[in-house]
Amino acid sequence: MATLRFKAIQLAQSRKPIEIHETKKRSEIFGENVFNERTMRQYLTVQAFNGVMSSIKHGKKIDRKIADQVSSSMKDWALSKGVTHYTHWFQPLTGATAEKHDAFFETIGNGMAIEKFDGDKLVQQEPDASSFPHGGIRNTFEARGYTAWDPTSPAYIYGTTLCIPTIFVSYTGEALDYKTPLLKALLAVDESATAVCKYFDKNVKKVSSFLGWEQEYFLIDRALAGSRPDINLTGRTLLGHSPAKGQQLDDHYFGSIPSRAFSFMRDLETECMLLGIPVKTRHNEVAPNQFEIAPIHEEANLAVDHNALLMDVMGKVALRHDFKVLLHEKPFAGVNGSGKHNNWSLSTDTDVNLLSPGKTPMSNLQFLTFFINTIKAVHNNEELLRAAITSASNDHRLGSNEAPPAIMSVFIGAQLTGVLEELEGVTKGKLSPEEKTDLKLNVVGKIPDVLLDNTDRNRTSPFAFTGNKFEFRAVGSIANCAKPMTVLNTIVAKQLKDFKIEVDTLIAEKDLKKDEAIFNVLREYIKSIKNILFEGNGYGVEWEKEAKKRGLSNNKTTPEALKARISKKSIDIFEEMGVMTRVETIARYEIDMEEYIKRVQIESRVLGDIAGNHVVPTAVKYQNILIENVSGLKKIFGDEFENHAKEQLKLLVRISDHIEAIHMKIDAMIAARKKANKLTLIEKRASDYCFKVKPFFDEIRYHCDKLELMVDDEIWPLTKYRELLFAR
Ligand code: ADP
Ligand code: MG
Repeated sequence: MATLRFKAIQLAQSRKPIEIHETKKRSEIFGENVFNERTMRQYLTVQAFNGVMSSIKHGKKIDRKIADQVSSSMKDWALSKGVTHYTHWFQPLTGATAEKHDAFFETIGNGMAIEKFDGDKLVQQEPDASSFPHGGIRNTFEARGYTAWDPTSPAYIYGTTLCIPTIFVSYTGEALDYKTPLLKALLAVDESATAVCKYFDKNVKKVSSFLGWEQEYFLIDRALAGSRPDINLTGRTLLGHSPAKGQQLDDHYFGSIPSRAFSFMRDLETECMLLGIPVKTRHNEVAPNQFEIAPIHEEANLAVDHNALLMDVMGKVALRHDFKVLLHEKPFAGVNGSGKHNNWSLSTDTDVNLLSPGKTPMSNLQFLTFFINTIKAVHNNEELLRAAITSASNDHRLGSNEAPPAIMSVFIGAQLTGVLEELEGVTKGKLSPEEKTDLKLNVVGKIPDVLLDNTDRNRTSPFAFTGNKFEFRAVGSIANCAKPMTVLNTIVAKQLKDFKIEVDTLIAEKDLKKDEAIFNVLREYIKSIKNILFEGNGYGVEWEKEAKKRGLSNNKTTPEALKARISKKSIDIFEEMGVMTRVETIARYEIDMEEYIKRVQIESRVLGDIAGNHVVPTAVKYQNILIENVSGLKKIFGDEFENHAKEQLKLLVRISDHIEAIHMKIDAMIAARKKANKLTLIEKRASDYCFKVKPFFDEIRYHCDKLELMVDDEIWPLTKYRELLFAR
């Protein structure tokens, strides 16, 4: 029975790193398989090129004639690179990406054929939407959905397929994907932020949101991972005793990269270069076999697509290297889980990072405006932000003393805390000339030099300001970044919109100068946002108590956290900012609840299966060996035998106890599942799975892991933690 395990270990240990030859500079191959600006200039007519560029820059619709030109050129370019098929590539609410390939090939009669790709095929397709999550949006009689070309994310070639990034909506126009609301949120933040920018610079016409993600992952030998049914079916281990050596020596983080992993990384990086994903950083993470890859930040929509694409490509490249990539937030108990920090900022079309302090007092006032408004947005919507990153798998990470807690708070560092304190003292109403000068010279004017050498970093904060950007650290490693990015940009858009109204009102009604009005509004904001600011240790129990006093939410599980998505406040904010309708918001909530239930249900079944069919039979087998041993001893020693079989007899009893406990708990877990399945209200069902079914996981695991320590290693069927994490 244990042969699969030993074969896998043998295989894993016999593998050699694949040699990777990089013959060209990375800058030379960057974007080679992307229909980017450079390629478009080469392949498109001036008219078509201008059409696409103005669609990208100003959101202008592309007319059919131009679409025909673009599609024809795209086809020529793709054919020149050996491509045979095209696909609309989209991100349905399954969490994976979706593609349906069609060949360019078409017959034209008389046994002849050509390659063809019309503009309407580029612009729109109608895939059957019935098998994608829709949360009750789709009527059963109308299964059609539309995918529509998103020109702001360039088409690319992967393998022999031309992939066209698209949105995915239902026949009746509701979003069925991650991209649609993201694009709307980006538009909303552009509008609100541009309006606020005009206080400082009339030339600003557009504000874009930027995202730099940092993707953490585990690499496990493919054979080893394949020998574990739990990893195969749930992406994580449901049992397994922690190894004697884990990460306690801290010898992995930033350590030298193991050679097989290193060739995987280089191979992956080459693929990324060809696809135009600007990856730059790689390193070992904290846990054994855990790593990170991070690109240079990009416009948020593109960065989201690139991360979704990367997660897909990682899996494919890993296979070439006989690895399996684990993107689950907590594949192994007892060692660090994986996250995906989302570094976020806003930048103008005049190339000013609005979250970077400037060189003049006025540009610093602009910085403070965006800085404080972002904090205010998080303050007002902390529960919604928490809900944006919740999932069954991220539940294992948040609040488990290694990742940010489930409580949202903002870290800004000592210097900026000081600046806010000074601003709080600004006089109400009109400012005296002396006060204005003082503000300019001593408060606002002082920021740049203090901030640039601010290396003060708090790793326990879920939302930290890191010099020229905010870093949202609570995002899960397997998550689609569109979720947190949609929420963050929406709440900031809403906040900036409100801010503009308040400032304009003060200017109009109280006869204040523009900067006086801004100072006045910011002062009130500073007073109101204190609850969300926290500089201390986010892992401590003291913080939990303190946060409770402050009235901050602490939703530790997905069924609890998700509720904030459908509060009146959340529904209203999405509607007001034109990001999602009420129907869309509720549909997404139901999809996520349903997904939670299914994930826990699958894990419960898999665990029941492994514990009942793998662990218990192995324990019984070992008992039989012990029994044989004891009866042998009896033959030799007769009545005296008990003196010589003390340990064996004790072991027999202990094994029986664990077996009994496992069976009892599996039965009870199944009963809890059956009860939960009967509940019609989705909240109740999710809550039952969370609080009545899931608690059995740890209990069952406890007994299985004890048996792992007792049973002869030779017959233990499940590849052990030490082998999964350390076999090289
Ligand atoms: P670390 O957090 O590991 O120290 P950095 O903070 O330097 O690393 O960078 C992490 C990510 O943040 C990178 O993807 C980087 O491109 C991105 N980043 C840097 N500046 C910005 C910015 N202004 N807006 C968004 N992301 C940014
Ligand atoms: Mg970082």
